[in-house]
Amino acid sequence: MNSNVLKDGDITENIIAFKVNNSYKENMPKTELYDITRGCWRISYKMAQYADYAFSVYKGTIKEVYKIEKWLRAEELQRTTFPDEEVPKGRYGFVGKIAEKEIRDKYIEKVIEYKKGEQAPFKYLPNKKAFISKRKICNNEVIEEIQKIEKEIVPLNIDEESKKAIVNVRVNQGKFRDLLLKRYNNKCCLCDVKNQKFLIASHIKPWAKSESKEKADVNNGFLMCPNHDRLFDKGYITFDDDGKIKISNKLTKTDCIFLNVDSKMHIEQLTDGNKKYLKFHREKVFET
Ligand SMILES: [Zn+2]
Repeated sequence: MNSNVLKDGDITENIIAFKVNNSYKENMPKTELYDITRGCWRISYKMAQYADYAFSVYKGTIKEVYKIEKWLRAEELQRTTFPDEEVPKGRYGFVGKIAEKEIRDKYIEKVIEYKKGEQAPFKYLPNKKAFISKRKICNNEVIEEIQKIEKEIVPLNIDEESKKAIVNVRVNQGKFRDLLLKRYNNKCCLCDVKNQKFLIASHIKPWAKSESKEKADVNNGFLMCPNHDRLFDKGYITFDDDGKIKISNKLTKTDCIFLNVDSKMHIEQLTDGNKKYLKFHREKVFET
């Protein structure tokens, strides 16, 4: 057997291997290889979030390794090798860079075995099961972290507002925010604020009203700019189950203009998991 063949045990990261058989050329420019590897793919957005790296695979051999930074809709990829307007709907691609030397050296020119009948253009490595279990580990880490914050906050003899401020700082330094950054592609889920310094992990059902599990549930979070976070937190805006914005009558037209709130706004990536928290927000937080 070829000693270059990777076995499941050799792979310790979550990786998606993309076949580039049709577009690969010997000695093609690095930028082009990156561009044909990153998209566009008919891939589950949810699964893709748990990938650390991507392989560019030509006839079973790994030609390049990329560290994935984020996933975008194929229409937003701005690839050089394929016009965006011809991209079929519902596909995604990643943005990333060539992996660090250590990882590259481990995998470049190694061979991936494809079983007979394994025709799909990409596959999850080491395997799909490992991929999903990593997702669970991720969630457990968030739960542990949130429980730690709770334990520290509860005994503090300070008012609720101060507690809330401490919680916000801690949550916004941790894994809960990391998961939201990934989910919303490092961007406010309502507007185009992308500067990470300003993006806030906002709980939909307020922290103080949430059970421990709910506090750690990424479905109970939105990623927002300071502006939209404040409006949402104070109940001046909320969302229906389609993600469409509802604006409180307490905001004047002038408020809306200067606070960048518009009745046409909506959250695109609303999950089923968001809905129960949003229901609470509409009923208990929103100021009609
Ligand atoms: Zn915003």
